[in-house]
Amino acid sequence: MAFVEENFGINVFNDSVMRQRLPRETYKALHKTIDDGRRLDPQLASIVANAMKDWAVERGATHYTHWFQPLNSVTAEKHDAFITPVDGGRVIQEFSGKELVRGEADASSLPSGGLRSTFEARGYTAWDPTSYAFIKEHVLCIPTAYCSYGGEALDKKTPLLRSMEALNKQAVRILKLFGRLDATRVTPTVGPEQEYFLIEKELYDKRSDLIFAGRTLFGAPAPKGQELGDHFFGTIKTRVQAFMTELNEELWKVGVLAKTEHNETAPAQHEMAPIHSIVNVACDHNQLTMEIMKKVARRHGLHCLLSEKPFAGVNGSGKHNNWSMSTNTGYNLLEPGDSPHESAQFLLFLTSVIKAVDDYQDLLRASVASAGNDHRLGGCEAPPAIISIFLGDELTEILEALETGSIYNGREKTDMTIGVHMLPKFPKDTTDRNRTSPFAFTGNKFEFRSLGSSDSISDANVVLNTIVAESLRQFADELENASDFRSALHDLIVRTIHDHKRIIFNGNNYTDEWVKEAERRGLCRLDSSVDALPCYTDEKNIRLFETHKVLSESELRSRRDIGLDSYAKIIAIEANTMIMMARRQILPAVLRFTGDMAAASRNIREIGAECASGPALVSTLSATVDQLNSDLLRLETVIRERPAGDDPLSDARYMHDTVLPAMADLRKSADTLETLTDRSYWPFPTYDELLFSI
Ligand code: ADP
Ligand code: MG
Repeated sequence: MAFVEENFGINVFNDSVMRQRLPRETYKALHKTIDDGRRLDPQLASIVANAMKDWAVERGATHYTHWFQPLNSVTAEKHDAFITPVDGGRVIQEFSGKELVRGEADASSLPSGGLRSTFEARGYTAWDPTSYAFIKEHVLCIPTAYCSYGGEALDKKTPLLRSMEALNKQAVRILKLFGRLDATRVTPTVGPEQEYFLIEKELYDKRSDLIFAGRTLFGAPAPKGQELGDHFFGTIKTRVQAFMTELNEELWKVGVLAKTEHNETAPAQHEMAPIHSIVNVACDHNQLTMEIMKKVARRHGLHCLLSEKPFAGVNGSGKHNNWSMSTNTGYNLLEPGDSPHESAQFLLFLTSVIKAVDDYQDLLRASVASAGNDHRLGGCEAPPAIISIFLGDELTEILEALETGSIYNGREKTDMTIGVHMLPKFPKDTTDRNRTSPFAFTGNKFEFRSLGSSDSISDANVVLNTIVAESLRQFADELENASDFRSALHDLIVRTIHDHKRIIFNGNNYTDEWVKEAERRGLCRLDSSVDALPCYTDEKNIRLFETHKVLSESELRSRRDIGLDSYAKIIAIEANTMIMMARRQILPAVLRFTGDMAAASRNIREIGAECASGPALVSTLSATVDQLNSDLLRLETVIRERPAGDDPLSDARYMHDTVLPAMADLRKSADTLETLTDRSYWPFPTYDELLFSI
């Protein structure tokens, strides 16, 4: 067998391993649990645990962990060895069903946003059997959800699983109305494209900002950026290719369907896209991908930057979240289909998304809010902080024709009644040309492009699944009570298009005209995370999440507070890093250089030569370094004066309104000094080295 086929999923306790290793009855029962998304029977668990342990031990594992995703966007693990002591001072390796299904986690240092006080720090972890266990460096990892003993979600997986259930419930109601009784389960599918930068590890080690903040906080632009467009899809350099090759191999071993690799727009920027899978698995796999990217980079003397905006002046990194819904019979619900019946069903699901995005623009924006992503959204590289939908001209014209009851005058002329006529064919390949839209229909799925590169994809998909579930709930309520299904369906689709078409925008999202137009349309504009995160606890949003049993009011409050709190903490770390670099590296280096230039000027004058440029340089340097010094003092002051208090919103607001501008000023004078200073004096590697040395 070829290498790839032989090694794909080699470290995954996947379906074929289960079939091989589990008794037939156990396998069938487990499979049913997985397919129906149900809880695992404890009796099955011990048989499964034992088989899993034997398999893992054969593959060199010594430990197991309940691998979970706390609310700070990373993954958490605590390893336990399989050993149990037996007579004679020896050990055997054991793993019980109880240990597989449920673990205790004393995770008092993980953020809970007030859901759990430290004196009752314990929570529990529960296996998500729909996501396969896998081995990572001698540890059997069991993908789990993490809850408090009160049952409150303390992680990113629990609400994701609940939102999948909500979407399933409502989508199945709709499918029943269309007579699709064979489809008993609907799952959201996601393919997240992951962008990243690779830089020389040796250079990374010399910059405190990269080490502490994951992004550069100083840096004048290099003479060349991305203006030639020569990096995007360019030939991949040998060293980067070696990294990508090993990355793929590592990802394949743990079952990640790594598919596409290419150079991205900015110098040193790249992308990896997997084949889509069900969303909870896509989310687990994306977390694994980010972790493995960092590890593999190290082995190649490189550092992988996942920050949303590592370098000013060139594109930052995002994560394109391709999303659709699929039935257990393998049917993509956003596929236009080729019968009048399928067309009608497609239109209903399509308009459910349009309505959802329009009704909950604020939540979608909040779901991608982070300090890092604020630097990217609204720059000329990523969608603005205004959510809108791109449908493509053809599909938009079709919807307009439906709404006005007129004839579609596109490539084909059709007079359409929903449920009677088929949708005119609209060319799929022209639907994906607008790369500026935050939320684009790309033929048979939507691509949500606002996610930050370092974020978990969970938040965005929790929102997406839940808001679409809400549209479908309203649709099902209306249609289930209709006496004439077909005419009710027609009316509903037409009305939904009419009510929500303001969210559709096919033009260039990067222009100022669009910002004005969006305002005219009354679309919601939330520029910063501090504006966006409080939306989580708006009355209408609490109602939404409670209706679908995805998040309770206290769970929402905890998410909002953790978001704001980490926003403030990140900015504080960045500000302190800037202070350290400016005071202990930049200031002394520039003063040394200025002194040396002053001495050089004096020496020149001493031999009787006329030289105006020396003194001119010295006075420019002196003036700019004075500016730097006053900017530095100002930043130190605003950090020192950060009001104490425990309201996360006012703290985050202070960081945004007062600290960020002081950071920007300090950066400006430092970057000017960088362009004036002999590079041999500059205390850390500059953009030209960081971006162009591999
Ligand atoms: P592009 O860069 O043009 O957006 P890519 O091919 O790089 O396109 O990425 C497309 C992504 O969309 C892939 O991850 C792919 O698996 C995913 N995708 C395709 N079909 C679906 C679907 N039905 N549901 C979710 N994701 C999908
Ligand atoms: Mg894409």
